[in-house]
Amino acid sequence: MKEKLLGKTPEELKQVALNAGLPAFAGKQIARWMYVSRVKSIDEMTNISKAGREKLSELYDLGVIPPMDCQISKDGTKKYLFPVTCARRASLGAYANALPSELETAAIEAVMIPDDDRKTLCVSSQSGCKMGCKFCMTGRQGFHGNLSVADILAQFIAIDEASELTNCVFMGMGEPLDNWENVKRAIEVLTADWGFGWSPKRITLSTIGVIPNLEKYLNECKCHLAVSLHNPIPEERLSMMPVQAAYPIRDVIGLIKQYDFSGQRRVSFEYTMFSGFNDDKVHADALYRLLKGLECRINLIRFHKIPDFDYDTSPDGIMEMFKNRLSSYGITCTIRASRGEDILAACGMLAGQHKEKDS
Ligand code: SF4
Repeated sequence: MKEKLLGKTPEELKQVALNAGLPAFAGKQIARWMYVSRVKSIDEMTNISKAGREKLSELYDLGVIPPMDCQISKDGTKKYLFPVTCARRASLGAYANALPSELETAAIEAVMIPDDDRKTLCVSSQSGCKMGCKFCMTGRQGFHGNLSVADILAQFIAIDEASELTNCVFMGMGEPLDNWENVKRAIEVLTADWGFGWSPKRITLSTIGVIPNLEKYLNECKCHLAVSLHNPIPEERLSMMPVQAAYPIRDVIGLIKQYDFSGQRRVSFEYTMFSGFNDDKVHADALYRLLKGLECRINLIRFHKIPDFDYDTSPDGIMEMFKNRLSSYGITCTIRASRGEDILAACGMLAGQHKEKDS
């Protein structure tokens, strides 16, 4: 399998250029074509000689794979399906190093959410997920592998709205902090002057709280943070989120409280509301105690029913009461509008499957 160019730094691309018999400065040209012009093929790099492009293509893949399916919601949300080849070993950042037996072909999804003048891409970082949250379709399918840096960045380039994207959230399939090295490199490319040139303020990483890599993220990146909290009571959270056993939410919040979120960087908490499970005033009060002293926002999310799962979403009236109770404690709290539910693109619904055809 050929090595992919997407994700490489200009310094690494200098060596790529030399390998293809091109002058070293062609490395910078390749970076510009990939990250500024966001071309979809090596052949579009027209200031590189035809022979040079042919040699490059012989040795490398650009890494942009066209989507194999796209569904459009009635609210304008678009869900793209991509084929990916995953390395099952987490250490295989570049799967050129993997044995064929260590590779698996799978599908992942990216969701483009339009909102006034914003277009946000919800990006996947893994195919499937190891974390096993009970309410999540991605978690149900188990783990197929980490996405390479190229597979993460290709989601930004292969879609129709590539040139119009304003923001991104690492909130698609997978736990981004469980694929930290590749996600970190993707963020580096997105924010570097030689890369996409995005401000870190345009990027949010969402995690269930994998503490060791969360600490690295907070130290090494300036992007926003979203934490999937869902229940402040430890035993109840554990019943839905196995991660609670390894990384209790109290410790996650304790770590976050050591950082400053009063300036440019923001932290928010995702709280999916399940009727009769986490929507009582006892939960609102426990949330307040847990988050006290932290400048943050809580997003209350309607739960989208999935098969073989007992809970329904909390009724609107209960969500409103829950929100008001948190607001009375001075916590900024919003009920987040659901997007793309009709195409199974909303939170917890991504499964990486073709749309079933109507019979
Ligand atoms: Fe994985 Fe996130 Fe789903 Fe949990 S909610 S199983 S961490 S994708």
